[in-house]
Amino acid sequence: MKDYSILLYYCYSPIADPEAFREEHHLLCLELNLLGRIIVAAEGLNGTVSGLREDCEKYMAAVKADPRFKDIDFKVEPSDTHVFTKLHVRYKPEIVHSSLKHLAPQEKTGIHLSPSDFKKMKDQEDVVLLDVRSDYEHLVGKFKNALTLDIENFRDFPEKVAELEPLKDKKIITYCTGGVKCEKASAFLLEQGFENVYQLHGGIIKYGLEEGGEDFEGKCYVFDNRLTVDVNRVNPKVISRCYICQEPSDRMVNCANPTCNIHVPMCEACGETMQGACSDTCQHDPEKRPYNGTGYYQKETNGYNPFKGLYRKEKK
Ligand SMILES: [Zn+2]
Ligand SMILES: [Zn+2]
Repeated sequence: MKDYSILLYYCYSPIADPEAFREEHHLLCLELNLLGRIIVAAEGLNGTVSGLREDCEKYMAAVKADPRFKDIDFKVEPSDTHVFTKLHVRYKPEIVHSSLKHLAPQEKTGIHLSPSDFKKMKDQEDVVLLDVRSDYEHLVGKFKNALTLDIENFRDFPEKVAELEPLKDKKIITYCTGGVKCEKASAFLLEQGFENVYQLHGGIIKYGLEEGGEDFEGKCYVFDNRLTVDVNRVNPKVISRCYICQEPSDRMVNCANPTCNIHVPMCEACGETMQGACSDTCQHDPEKRPYNGTGYYQKETNGYNPFKGLYRKEKK
C-alpha cells in the first residue's frame, strides 16, 4: 500500500461567490498538506493534487460533503510521494480555458460513457474516437485509431470543429486526460449540430484504472512532476520517437535550455549525449541548466510561503 495518493477531479456546479470559496478551499488544502493545482470558477471546480493517503481521504470527504459537489468523481492513483512541489488554488473565469464560456455542461453535454461502456463501444464501425487534447499530449500517447487535432491549446478546439463536418453522421466519442475538457468539447459538438455525441467519463486516467487501458498507445501526459504515466496494462505500445535519433521513445523531457524548454520525447542515450538539450544551440546556451538525467527541472521556489497573505477568518 503506497503512502500517498494523487487526485484528479472536476465538477461543473455553480459557485455563487467563487473568490470567497477559493479562500476557504485554499485553507482546507493547506491544513491537509496537499500540493497541486486547483482552479475555482463560478462554473465549478477543477483540480489535481497529491498528499498523504489519509489527507486525501479527508479532502475528498470534505468536498463531497458540500451539496454542490456531492456527485464529483475523484480519480485516485496511488503514489510513493508528492507529485507537485507547490500548492496553487486560483480563481479563474473558467475551470478550463476554452473560449466556450457560454456552455453549461451540467445542463447539456455529450452522453457520459463509463470506462467499461467505452471499451465495448470504441471499436464499433460507426464510431469515431476524437482526442480533444493538444499536440504535446497526443504526440506521446493516444487511443488506437483515434482522430487527433492539430491544436496547441484547448481554446483552439472550436475552430477545428469545421474539419469534422464529414463525420456528422457518425457516433463521436470524445476523450481527454480526466474528462473535464470533454464536458465542453462534446457540448460544443452538440451545439454545432452533431447528434450522436458521447464522452469518456473520467478520461484516459479512469479508463486505465478501471479497464486496464486497453488500446491506449503510448503514455498519457499528465500535469504534474511525473510528466507522463502508463495507462495500458493490456497491450502497451510506444508510439513516439526520440526527438534526436528518431528511435521509439516515450521518455518526455524539457530541453535543458530554459528559454527553449521544448517538451519532447528523448531517449536515455540522447539525453546523455545532448546533456538534456534539444539541439546543439541549446546545448551551448550559457543559461543551460545542468542535466540531472530526468529532464525535469524544479521551478525556482525561493521565498515561497504557502501561507503568505492567508488567514482563516474569525467565525462570528
Ligand atoms: Zn535518441
Ligand atoms: Zn532546446
